[in-house]
Amino acid sequence: MKKSFIIGFALLLGIVLCMGFSSTPVQAKTTFVTIGTGGITGVYYPTGGAIAKIVNKKRKLYGIRATVESTGGSVFNVNAVMTGDLDFGVVQSDRQYQAINGLAEWKDKGPQKDLRAVFTIHPESITLVAADDAGINSIKDLKGKRVNIGNPGSGQRQNSIDALANAGLDYKSDLQAEGVKAAEAPGLLQDGRIDAFFYTVGHPSGAIKEATAGKRKVHFVPITGVDKLLSKYPYYAKAKIPIKLYPGATNKEDVKTFGVKATFVTSAKVPDAVVYAITKEVFDNFDSFKKLHPAYQVLTKQNMLEGMSAPIHPGAMKYYKEAGLK
Ligand code: GLU
Repeated sequence: MKKSFIIGFALLLGIVLCMGFSSTPVQAKTTFVTIGTGGITGVYYPTGGAIAKIVNKKRKLYGIRATVESTGGSVFNVNAVMTGDLDFGVVQSDRQYQAINGLAEWKDKGPQKDLRAVFTIHPESITLVAADDAGINSIKDLKGKRVNIGNPGSGQRQNSIDALANAGLDYKSDLQAEGVKAAEAPGLLQDGRIDAFFYTVGHPSGAIKEATAGKRKVHFVPITGVDKLLSKYPYYAKAKIPIKLYPGATNKEDVKTFGVKATFVTSAKVPDAVVYAITKEVFDNFDSFKKLHPAYQVLTKQNMLEGMSAPIHPGAMKYYKEAGLK
């Protein structure tokens, strides 16, 4: 009798303890979301960090814990968001357009129908950095040179190919094209292992600072004569690299080129509540968000809704309607 009472009591205690653990609020409710970015010396990585920081402040309210992953860039991010390996990704506006329409890198796979836009962020420019001693003053001078055009997962790779083709150069036969990640290119340029590299990036960026601050003197090469390219591809626009951001570069004036925008994307499969929470926190804390990176100086709430080609995720749309932005 006494023994069965003890067993009964122990069982009851066990049940109570189990219930206690399973109802621990944070563990039971936390939704982990991962944001795919780019190389750590780019602007996507701190951008993912800025978004995560803002949303993680309200962890108790939403139960969302956002983390950031360094990745190969836009193309990798689209694909990983589509497979569900990432929940969100920072992606160039031109890659968003290509992915939703099944073009370029998605020509064989077809339109990425579940891709959803959340908002757009900073402008990025197609940035060509060359060593002063390599005799490269226009994009045509890249003929026969060793040039990093970007790794296959990056957004810049297709931009480099487009810019070269516009100048009459075939990246496969007219130059020694390298496919390394943007974070490695400044070191290779400084070590004399490449003559130039392309990077589609917001300014200022750590990678370009690194490339312009070494012993080997470098400059930005203007990319002009792009009117035909711009009329062919609606997602490209003229842009300028402000030279004051890179005192180590030997250019005297701002550099003409063309550019795109960084955008924030997700999948139709990501719950509305999660996308709503992230959108709301970024927009409701817009002034603090803007201070998190100098590349955000030009942002307004309105222009953060321009440049999306995939359908806007319903969770984001709910916020835009509530806030009177749509
Ligand atoms: N635009 C680059 C890409 O899509 C990344 C730039 C960055 O990391 O800031 O791969």
